[in-house]
Amino acid sequence: MKVMKFGGSSLADAERYLMVKDITLQTHLQTGAAVVLSAPKGVTNALSLLVDLAIAGKDYQELFEKLSMTLNGIVNELAIKLPGFDDQRLLAYIDELLTELHHNLEGIRLIHCSPDAVTAKILSLGEYVSVNIFSGVISALGHDNLIIDPVRYVLAEGDYLDSIADVAVSKARFDDVPTGKGTMLIMPGFVAANDKGEKVTLGRNGSDYSAAILAACIDSDCCEIWTDVDGVYNADPNQVEGAVLLDKLTYQEAMELSYFGAKVLHPKTIGPIAQHHIPCLIRNTLNPSAPGTLISNEPSEVWTSVKGISHLSDITMFNVAGPGMKGMVGMASRVFEVISNGNISISLITQSSSEYSISFCIHSKDANRALALLEEAFKLELANQLLEPIEMRQELAIVTLVGDGMRKVKGLAAKFFSSLAQARVNIVAIAQGSSERSISAVIESHKAREAVKVVHQNFFSNLHTIDAFLVGCGTVGSELLSQISRQQKQLLNRNISLKVYGIANSRALLLRPGGIELENGWRDQLGQSKQTLSLPVLEEFVQENSLVNPVIIDCTTSTQVADQYLDMMQAGFHVVTPNKKANTKGMDFYAALRETAQKTRRQFLYETTVGAGLPVIDNLQKLIYAGDELVRFEGILSGSLSFIFGKLEEGLSLSEATRIAREKGYTEPDPRDDLSGMDVARKLLIMARESGLQRELQDIEIESILPDDFDDSGSVQTFLDNLVTLDPVYQELLQRAQQEGKVLRYVGTIEQGQCKVGIQAVDSKHPLYVVKDGENALAIHSHYYQPIPFVIRGYGAGAAVTAAGVFADVLRTMPWKQE
Ligand code: ADP
Ligand code: ASP
Ligand code: MG
Repeated sequence: MKVMKFGGSSLADAERYLMVKDITLQTHLQTGAAVVLSAPKGVTNALSLLVDLAIAGKDYQELFEKLSMTLNGIVNELAIKLPGFDDQRLLAYIDELLTELHHNLEGIRLIHCSPDAVTAKILSLGEYVSVNIFSGVISALGHDNLIIDPVRYVLAEGDYLDSIADVAVSKARFDDVPTGKGTMLIMPGFVAANDKGEKVTLGRNGSDYSAAILAACIDSDCCEIWTDVDGVYNADPNQVEGAVLLDKLTYQEAMELSYFGAKVLHPKTIGPIAQHHIPCLIRNTLNPSAPGTLISNEPSEVWTSVKGISHLSDITMFNVAGPGMKGMVGMASRVFEVISNGNISISLITQSSSEYSISFCIHSKDANRALALLEEAFKLELANQLLEPIEMRQELAIVTLVGDGMRKVKGLAAKFFSSLAQARVNIVAIAQGSSERSISAVIESHKAREAVKVVHQNFFSNLHTIDAFLVGCGTVGSELLSQISRQQKQLLNRNISLKVYGIANSRALLLRPGGIELENGWRDQLGQSKQTLSLPVLEEFVQENSLVNPVIIDCTTSTQVADQYLDMMQAGFHVVTPNKKANTKGMDFYAALRETAQKTRRQFLYETTVGAGLPVIDNLQKLIYAGDELVRFEGILSGSLSFIFGKLEEGLSLSEATRIAREKGYTEPDPRDDLSGMDVARKLLIMARESGLQRELQDIEIESILPDDFDDSGSVQTFLDNLVTLDPVYQELLQRAQQEGKVLRYVGTIEQGQCKVGIQAVDSKHPLYVVKDGENALAIHSHYYQPIPFVIRGYGAGAAVTAAGVFADVLRTMPWKQE
């Protein structure tokens, strides 16, 4: 005979009861079935809340009516769907239970407390309704069935609300129960009785345990736990994308996983089934054809050192410390005795080797009680300062890695902790089970989901995520979005999930928890958004959506955005940008950016600030790291000026050339930044700083294309119109150069520490003679590269190459790229 347990998630409505009927009858007709049922979905939570409201003296009528509607609703619907279903008897039964419940709640409200015995009775109401409904369904189909009341059969001891079954005594009581294909047994889960015959419960989520007890008591050959997922996964499938279904788990592995929070199975379940060697299958009511996960003594053929990861939230950690602890025999046992006498269960213990302190974790609901008990028990030691005031740290979580094979493999703990570091999680305490089957870290609970996600990614999937937020969607920004949109699928094939979660401009911010659809519509949605960009809003979004690798891409030219990079990195974001403003502020800020990046383990990447898509910064940094030194530098650093000066040679005027360059997207949004020489000066300053020179922007000697007496005020359009007045000046300058066989180039140089940008006339032998039409060329003369310099040359302007360079930087934020 098989035991088949169905949880609340399988019993949400009338439809589900009928599904459960189909599944159980099929098995019953083959092998005989003993069915254990939970309350319908949400009912125990509602009952628990009703008790809390009554204790607090609050109005609970609305919730009470909702509960009544849920229960009656299931019966009424079954009456429609199932001919012969005795709804009247059930409605009368529910009415009777609810009347008693109401009576109890009123009593609780009057005395402002609910004795545990009463609470246990109230909480188990849903299970009784559930089995009676189900029995009605089975009877309507003409099958014999028998409701087993655990109060008569299952003996348990301990707390009214969290008891442990005495399987041996209970087993004897089952002697008179018929087993086999004749009568289907139906038992409410979660309930038992103490030795006084009073109703107790087995702890929240305890119906799984009831199934295991029943399986042991009737010598069942299999215990099936039917729920709403296909089996046990290596992480909660409802929280971790890409969680993998496990085919088999050993009892011990299942025990550790569930003990440390995998809700799919109550940890107490394992005791009876392991002791009686009963195989246990976790299966899905909504997908009965799935084979499920087998929990038994059999290890899986698919060997992995780590089986899964789970987390427990609502944890409080206590730290008992003080000089009185040192070497004092029995201190630990006194601490734990106090806690155990309070019927409080401890999830994790760590002790420092100096014995100076003991830390342990318990569920937060028991925290205040535990503190009071400890303070009372150690009153003397506290008064005499042998103990420091007992420290209580709340809002914690325990993240645990589980697997039988863990003891055979080295380096797992290191990988676990570096994964937590990668998620920027602070570790409060660590513990390793003596079986070496689990490693746990106590962390702040608001980081738990992120932590599980990152650890899962590092241990079980090769999937790396990049969670991008774009600020500034002008030419480069929009181009970047189209490039990302085109590449997303290919990247996913290479195990990189790059999603853009936010897009902002100076007016609005668009955020989408599932990632923004980049193909179309984002611009309209951004236009309609009422939200505006602020770092706290982004931080909250990252937190709420448990994003583990957030990157801000600044495609603006704004100083105001650049000013926030330090805060952004502090808040956990990598920063990627083609914006030169941050790197060209004062040296203090330049140094602070690097220091903050290092401290926060975030990346600050700005490859496109010099030479757009050309790999300039990266190469220069590598040379310097390798001990090389810059001797001299010269280069055409501006794609727009390269284009404009090339066009001058072809006979175009300065104003025409500028207009075309702007139309092609080669210039900065405001071409004055290019023609003033300021943009090139910023690039040269970055080159100088990357080479180790401590320079400020005012140290760069700038020869502007715009003479001092030129009026460059007004709008961009006015400026372009006025530029015509300079055309003859440049025509003449060019003619003079051409007479000497030279061309004009706008060149940046660093020589003997002097940084200069300006117009140079170069002859045909000069390497920059041929560099035009938007090309950049950078000649790095260094100790290693001489007499022939290291030259980087190629297109250095335009939205496409710049965006591609930014894209490459974004990809460099992936964790494995950082190692
Ligand atoms: P039931 O009502 O059937 O008892 P529960 O809600 O108690 O169902 O347990 C099932 C839930 O357990 C799943 O929906 C899933 O979100 C959660 N869960 C947590 N960890 C795991 C895991 N490792 N594998 C499968 N499910 C898990
Ligand atoms: N109905 C009980 C609860 O919600 C027991 C269970 O579902 O396992 O805790
Ligand atoms: Mg459950």
